[in-house]
Amino acid sequence: MPNGSRRPLVAGNWKMNVAPEAEFVRIVEAARTLAAVEIMVCPPATVLAELASAARGSPLRLGGQDCHAEPSGAFTGDIAAEMLKAAGASAVIVGHSERRTYHKESDADVRAKALAARRAGLTAIVCVGETKAEREGGRALAVVGAQLEGSLPDGASAEDLVLAYEPVWAIGTGLTPTVQDVAEMHGFIRQRLTGRFGVPGQGIRVLYGGSVKPANAAELMGVPDVDGALVGGASLKADEFLAIASVYR
Ligand code: PEP
Repeated sequence: MPNGSRRPLVAGNWKMNVAPEAEFVRIVEAARTLAAVEIMVCPPATVLAELASAARGSPLRLGGQDCHAEPSGAFTGDIAAEMLKAAGASAVIVGHSERRTYHKESDADVRAKALAARRAGLTAIVCVGETKAEREGGRALAVVGAQLEGSLPDGASAEDLVLAYEPVWAIGTGLTPTVQDVAEMHGFIRQRLTGRFGVPGQGIRVLYGGSVKPANAAELMGVPDVDGALVGGASLKADEFLAIASVYR
């Protein structure tokens, strides 16, 4: 399936920040006019229901930033995928490098969370990516290959899975890989998805994430096998986030 058959997705990861209401309202309005791209905002869970209510009737999608693998239970501070769904999410990010690093999440943990997302009827946005040392050591493909193997549940399809390639060293640093390195990694991920999931794997979108800005979005989104972006810092400012999504106008 060529890139053109997969609808691009530009998702904003607000992390532990909440953008001013006016910025969110502008994103909701713009989502109505940017028909060539799916736009998503993943805010902190505390404001998910409020933002979902403000976005009702708009094509803007909302997502969570993490979920627990279990549907309920004695897990203080955690949030079930079903709870995100009830609050208005249609997706959830799992395996972000900040979760893998600060919360010591393993590939097996990420796979369990991706399965929980599927159980709840959410799309799991599974993040993978190598560290600077791993890239400099020539191990980027091997590291990401192992993360894909361990983090993705069997039987995945475009409905329940989106991949996000986020080099750890590019997140929040202003650094980005070369276009050649992005092309090589996305081609590799596409090959692995098709090899493992067959025809359904061809429809799974693979986003690039890591210091995407208006200035580099067209170049990065123009790389073959890049089906959109996962945007951190720039997603808190409507101008910047919408300039990135407008690459697909
Ligand atoms: C992220 O955290 O998913 C991310 C891509 O961050 P930034 O765009 O700020 O590098």
